[in-house]
Amino acid sequence: MITTLVFVLGGCNDAASEKKNEEPSILFESVTVIDAKSGERANYNVLVSGNKIIEVSDQPIESPPNCTIVNGKGKYLIPGLWDAHVHVTFTPGLEQAMFPLFLGNGITSIRDTGGLINEVVPWKEKSIKEPNSSPRLFIAGPLLDGHPNVYDGSPGRPEISVGLSSEEEAIEMVDSLAAAGVDLIKSYEMLSPKMFKTILATAEKHNLHVTGHVPLSIDVVEASDAGLRSMEHLRNLEMSCSSDFDSLLQARKQMLAQGKDYLGGTLRSEIHSAQRMHAFKTFDEQRASKVLAALKKNGTWQIPTTALTTGGINRLYENEDWKKTFEFLPETIRANWIEAANKAAEKQSSEISVAHGKWVLKMVKKLKDSQIKVMAGTDTPIGFLTPGFSLHKELEMLVKGGMEPLEAIESATLLPAQYFKVQDSIGTIEKNMIADLVLLDANPLSDITNTRKIIAVVRNGSYYNRKALDSLLNSN
Ligand SMILES: [Zn+2]
Repeated sequence: MITTLVFVLGGCNDAASEKKNEEPSILFESVTVIDAKSGERANYNVLVSGNKIIEVSDQPIESPPNCTIVNGKGKYLIPGLWDAHVHVTFTPGLEQAMFPLFLGNGITSIRDTGGLINEVVPWKEKSIKEPNSSPRLFIAGPLLDGHPNVYDGSPGRPEISVGLSSEEEAIEMVDSLAAAGVDLIKSYEMLSPKMFKTILATAEKHNLHVTGHVPLSIDVVEASDAGLRSMEHLRNLEMSCSSDFDSLLQARKQMLAQGKDYLGGTLRSEIHSAQRMHAFKTFDEQRASKVLAALKKNGTWQIPTTALTTGGINRLYENEDWKKTFEFLPETIRANWIEAANKAAEKQSSEISVAHGKWVLKMVKKLKDSQIKVMAGTDTPIGFLTPGFSLHKELEMLVKGGMEPLEAIESATLLPAQYFKVQDSIGTIEKNMIADLVLLDANPLSDITNTRKIIAVVRNGSYYNRKALDSLLNSN
């Protein structure tokens, strides 16, 4: 549970309390400002008043009354970070811990990519009602799946999807989600091409992006041509980049037709086990170039979730430093994770998971070279990816895959803001932007893992010093 927070809302000057009209303000002096638009600006002053950045200048700024002055010498100020692939309601008992863990790690905006609508809406409402102590939350509602649906509530597959039976049902569902206030729609793997396209068309009417696991029944290029706005985990891209892509698709369609009585999770696993390794082995550079060119042309963004998809290589479940992040989880969840981590560590990584990890890192470079827009997202709390901490691992893996540190920062700041068309208010450090900021003790451009060296976070103008961040992290 969240205990009383020790955060500082400005207020270094007692005389200010007499001046009721003065908003609390924060002045960062002589700080190095870094954002994806202007790069690195050394020795700048940044003034925050209320919930806005009101001045960014290389000239001295006079501190107003009621101002917190922060000496920024040798420090680095970056925009508040995003985790663009999160499931806030995936693990019962962990929901309450999510927001403090994100804020405590400098993540001021999140994109929830799947949860039942009645379960995610209250968190969205909380983030709107309490913007100074919650990350900004964008929600997709449930995964829209066909039959049998994958996340159906069976063991290991929490119920975060709906299985749709007809195009009418799909239209009704998208209409109702739009009415409930979702920010995007998520399509899933068991949809037929027809249902998938119906979802795309209905979402477009509501001006909502559709992000997806590309359905198994359709090729990635066809899904992109049909208007899929973004793809999660590079899912099923490997099958479309194989020299055998056509016969793999035909075989998949057959398995889908024959597996109607299976559990969705079982059927999907069988298909992946039958095709994935073969797809990695028959990766075709020319075919991949064509697929990536289509994604670029259509503006289909990618969320490769590299911290998750390199799981078989990184083996975070046996990494003692990583396991220390479990200490910030609620007690019962922590015990479950430790038990599951110990079990996972006993086994060798499968050949397929190692091949998958290597392929994903190779693809990060290809996405960059193809100028395809990428967002940093982690899939937390899946795969032992501790909320908040996992975003910093994601940034590290994006750089390992071939991004420059500033590009990795862009993927977690400016690009997600552009994705939701809120780049005029967040994502960069400029005058009139909302004050979502992270102050670092070392330069993230010389080493991306320096994004973990957080001295302070500003969320909607509220200043959290290190002590306040620690109490957020320890509040669960
Ligand atoms: Zn996910």
